[in-house]
Amino acid sequence: MEEYEIVVIGGGASGLMAAYQAAKRGKRVLLIERNEKLGKKIYITGKGRCNFTNDCSPDEFLTNVVSNPKFLMGAIRAFPPERTLRFFEEAGMHYKIERGNRAFPISDHASDVTKVLEKACRSVGVQIHLNERVLSVRKQDTMSDVANSMFDIVTSTGRYFAYSVIIATGGVSYPTTGSTGDGYSFASSLGHSIVPTVPALVGIRLKNPLAPLSGLSLKNVALSVKEGEKVLHREFGEMLFTHSGISSPIVLTISSLINRKQIPSLSLSLDLKPALSFEQLEQRILRDFDAEKNKSVGNVFCGLLPKNLVPFVLAQAGVSPQKTVNSVTKEERKGLLFALKCFIMKPTSLLPVEEAIVTAGGVSVKEVNPKTMESKRCPHLYFCGEVLDLDALTGGFNLQIAFATGYAAGNAV
Ligand SMILES: Cc1cc2nc3c(=O)[nH]c(=O)nc-3n(C[C@H](O)[C@H](O)[C@H](O)COP(=O)(O)OP(=O)(O)OC[C@H]3O[C@@H](n4cnc5c(N)ncnc54)[C@H](O)[C@@H]3O)c2cc1C
Repeated sequence: MEEYEIVVIGGGASGLMAAYQAAKRGKRVLLIERNEKLGKKIYITGKGRCNFTNDCSPDEFLTNVVSNPKFLMGAIRAFPPERTLRFFEEAGMHYKIERGNRAFPISDHASDVTKVLEKACRSVGVQIHLNERVLSVRKQDTMSDVANSMFDIVTSTGRYFAYSVIIATGGVSYPTTGSTGDGYSFASSLGHSIVPTVPALVGIRLKNPLAPLSGLSLKNVALSVKEGEKVLHREFGEMLFTHSGISSPIVLTISSLINRKQIPSLSLSLDLKPALSFEQLEQRILRDFDAEKNKSVGNVFCGLLPKNLVPFVLAQAGVSPQKTVNSVTKEERKGLLFALKCFIMKPTSLLPVEEAIVTAGGVSVKEVNPKTMESKRCPHLYFCGEVLDLDALTGGFNLQIAFATGYAAGNAV
């Protein structure tokens, strides 16, 4: 049975940063990772390129945080994106900034990010145990001074005592990378509340998936999500049809904003021509109809929309594709206009959390000190990264949360 000052559970982005920061301050740190290698999730981030942060100010950063931005204020100011960029640059990893201030390693290899973190940890003497899964974390039984008693950590291959523990086990998305929610049971066994987890940044299933359109990507569309007549959110950009529903960055964003709602009670409305007002679009249709009087509506609409989409839009308007344009009534024309500006899709659910980019929910931040990431329930216990009830939109913000909270925990422990 070995004794350590600090045991970090989980060798992902947040655990590596926390372990490095703690060992740099002269602490004796053991990092335990269940996988055969560190940072398994980092390898698949940003489609293998790892969008490791976003080159923006702390204030801008916080506007992209969906759950508990206020809790993150202190940690992000102490370790802002600028510090993350500098940390990697100084370690020899050059980076580039792309659309939307997204930062990537110049090599386009996510593995560079993990290499930097691992090398940094080893350079300050962090002991790393791979292929070892933590099974339980308890406070040692002592009759007196329970608050300052050591942690008793049992793993698949050993047992350790530690003065402090940092839980950095991630959420429950992409469980094949090692994040299967173990941290939630450690936290609750030590007195913490867990906010129920839901998927965030994930595709949306449709009641009647437009299966024949699977693979079709629409550029410059606007997707709104409505509750009754109230528009909850509207996003502009690209949208992709999948075999079960819809995906793409704007869909991922919307998913994170509605994941606590009753999804079947919502409706999605797609504006296929957001650059044109109803009036402008009506003029355009009138012009097209006038120029092609004897053609079928289906034919004319192929000039307005991708061919595969035309039958679905006409079906919503209740107009036969074979109908010649000169026999379209005013009422039918209104229906066509409406279908182009408000193409309705019924969502049934989000895809499961296992397929989500991030997990929303987790260890309640109400019970964690926002400056130090230390538990308010159990002294010397710390949390960082996705295990906490924190999540953000796409753009490098989630890894920045992992780095900033990892830094805070490693600096305070
Ligand atoms: C496909 C995909 C793409 C993404 N792309 C981006 C992106 O480009 N930019 C961005 O900012 N974010 C991205 N994210 C999100 C980001 O990867 C995560 O938010 C971030 O990695 C969380 O870091 P973490 O350290 O908290 O958790 P994790 O990276 O999940 O690390 C947790 C670690 O703990 C280990 N562990 C768990 N339980 C135990 C146990 N009992 N014992 C020992 N070890 C344990 C796991 O094996 C794992 O290595 C992406 C996520 C996915 C799934």
